[in-house]
Amino acid sequence: MTQASILPDILTAIQQTIEQHNIEITELDKAIGDGDHVINLQRGLDALSAISDELALLSWSQALTKIGMTLMSTMGGASGSLFGTLFMAMGKAAKDLTMNAENFAMIFAQGVESVKLRGKADIGEKTMLDTLIPVANSLLDDVEHDIAFRHLLENVDTHAIQGMESTRDLLATKGRASFLGDRVIGHIDAGARTSQLMICAVVGLLAGS
Ligand code: ADP
Ligand code: MG
Repeated sequence: MTQASILPDILTAIQQTIEQHNIEITELDKAIGDGDHVINLQRGLDALSAISDELALLSWSQALTKIGMTLMSTMGGASGSLFGTLFMAMGKAAKDLTMNAENFAMIFAQGVESVKLRGKADIGEKTMLDTLIPVANSLLDDVEHDIAFRHLLENVDTHAIQGMESTRDLLATKGRASFLGDRVIGHIDAGARTSQLMICAVVGLLAGS
């Protein structure tokens, strides 16, 4: 896969899952944030939708970089710069590589590393990283052990859900939720939930194709 021709389908699947969970995500961000996370994300996804035909014609590196720049300039919120950073770093890591499971695992892991640096955060701080880091590790483990693609996708799905669920019992040390102390216990982090929903939508699409 030299061209990012599957991107429009991926984007549609992501937009559908975010729209389906719109109310739930808003409630999550209202409970321990300011309630705008889904609006920020949908603004970014709409901007990507407007250029999706153009993205499909680009190389993976160019497409990922353009996605990152578009999210960075349209989304707003903490999540805008973090998702923007994720994709821009993935674009950089994808330079001159063909897209296969092994390369994707490395590219995604590089993207997640950049989010850690940008957000000065790590696993266990009740953020999107609690979904992203376990997924990156799952991918790296599975390509190292040459796991069948179908199982690799199942493992990504499982780790994304476990990571998202793990945020329920965590204290927040980064972002708006960090000001609320132990009032955040019992609530799932909105960015961990949207990250998980988007990852599971991509898995669903790839597993069905
Ligand atoms: P804002 O917090 O500015 O209103 P959003 O509501 O769009 O922005 O995004 C909030 C989400 O961003 C949180 O749920 C969390 O997952 C993520 N987040 C916030 N700060 C950080 C950080 N320092 N590192 C990683 N993720 C973060
Ligand atoms: Mg918010």
